[in-house]
Amino acid sequence: MAVGESAGGHGDLTTAPAPDVFARPGVAQSLCTALFALDLVLRFSGPAESGPWPRAGAGLLVVVTVAALALPWRRLPAWAPVVLALCDLAIIGVFRLDPVGGGSAVLMVLPGLYLGRYHGRRGVITTSLGTTLFVAVPSLAYFGWDGPNVSRILLSVLVAIAASLAIASAVSRLERQRRVSAAIVDSVDVGLVLLDDEGVYQAVNRRHGDFMGLAYPEGHAGRAGQLGLVYSADGTSEVTTTDMPTALAARGEEFDDVRIWVGDDPLTRRALSVSARVVRDSGGRFDGAALAYKDVTDFMRALSVKDEFVSSVSHELRTPLTSIHGYTQLLLERDDLPAEVRSQLAVVVRNTERLQRLVGDLLHTSRAEEDALDLQRRETDLAEVVRQAVQAAEPAARENDVRLEVRTPERLVLKVDAQRIAQAVDNLVSNAIKYTPRGGEVAVELGIDANRVEITVRDTGVGIDAADRDRLFTRFFRARHAEEQSIQGVGLGLNITRSIVEGHAGRIDVESEVGRGSTFRVRLPLPGKAAGEPVGAEVPGSGD
Ligand code: ADP
Repeated sequence: MAVGESAGGHGDLTTAPAPDVFARPGVAQSLCTALFALDLVLRFSGPAESGPWPRAGAGLLVVVTVAALALPWRRLPAWAPVVLALCDLAIIGVFRLDPVGGGSAVLMVLPGLYLGRYHGRRGVITTSLGTTLFVAVPSLAYFGWDGPNVSRILLSVLVAIAASLAIASAVSRLERQRRVSAAIVDSVDVGLVLLDDEGVYQAVNRRHGDFMGLAYPEGHAGRAGQLGLVYSADGTSEVTTTDMPTALAARGEEFDDVRIWVGDDPLTRRALSVSARVVRDSGGRFDGAALAYKDVTDFMRALSVKDEFVSSVSHELRTPLTSIHGYTQLLLERDDLPAEVRSQLAVVVRNTERLQRLVGDLLHTSRAEEDALDLQRRETDLAEVVRQAVQAAEPAARENDVRLEVRTPERLVLKVDAQRIAQAVDNLVSNAIKYTPRGGEVAVELGIDANRVEITVRDTGVGIDAADRDRLFTRFFRARHAEEQSIQGVGLGLNITRSIVEGHAGRIDVESEVGRGSTFRVRLPLPGKAAGEPVGAEVPGSGD
């Protein structure tokens, strides 16, 4: 494979080099000579006296074998080994002149196979001419046209030609198949690499040759893990030898969608999504790996444009929100406000704060690297937090004709970031209302089991398809039903909720049945008794 010589080198994946010792004339001739020698030994060990022809043949054989081993075949033209095959046919012709006979006629198959295998149709013609001129004609001229002699010679010649023809057409069919698959492999828009069990490149296709040209302008040594202009998904940090996709694959790892950038010129560099699969031998042992490199440059650029957009819109929203928040708080400081107005303004302040957090989250998620959430943990009455979140969702529930219930203990104190937990409950409750058709029910429950606090939000809504459940918590993911029914949302709520829950060392799970509803369950660990942290769960009660 040419990867070692040039960065842009490519080969076809269908021809991983198999050792072909018979392509070397010295080896092929030695095999032939061994069989001739066997014929000679057996012939001279018989009772009948052999004439001078076998000796002459043996002499010729020695000369041809020495020449086959000594000549620099690489520097000779491609047709040069044909002369060797013809010499072998001539040696058989000489052996055939011996009246004692022997099995040498059958050895005509060997030059026939050689010529058919490596020289195709021309090889078959050469076999036909060679066997006729060097074996059949001298033998018939010498022994005459008697039936048994003609039969022996003619059949041997025909068998040699048939063998030559059979192998030539098999090779030509294989060659055609190889060219077709090579054309397909080279025309796909995905870079393909085949590694052997030691991480040595066996083949790359044309597309990957282009990627290697960007990653290794100085050339590539054809081994997995070579350092080059290869960067991780952020586009800036260089990928280390051990983290190189080829190195991972050479260690037997299988993966999908590992993103890298190749090249350092902003105009020409490409983003690639790499997958790898292990190749096993017939005994199931690791025998190498196949890697596919998909060009995802446009997708990555679109992502970064989207992130920039989200980030700049969020910045724009922040200023007016700060102003609404500030002025509403100023209003709340007045003493002349009727109690009802005061409580309504408190709702405005609370919701403005939620909106500010959402905008902050949008900014947070738009950053390429998700930093850990900055949690401000304080002892908090979770029961109050949950009740308030449910209260805030009541107008939406009324509007959607969804019955909203809440069950909490009177008090449940835990050291959490109250605002963040409120946000998480808020997200779950508002989703439950959003994805529940009119007449449905949403029940929110807070409780403690053995060693953790559980917040459960159960609805009788549309449910979530099993295929979507794994991706629910990924950024910007929206299940099909949400898109189809044009339910408003951006697909950030659950992602942020999970960050908040995990930030508190908790877990969030979902159970769901399409058409029957979903249950989201948040579990937060209770502090160990040794830590002496207070957990007060008092008087289970209910509110709405
Ligand atoms: P959004 O609601 O803004 O689309 P989320 O991240 O909150 O984003 O939710 C992601 C997706 O999960 C939603 O688009 C919706 O398809 C699905 N989903 C979330 N909660 C529920 C629920 N209670 N019932 C059915 N589907 C839900």
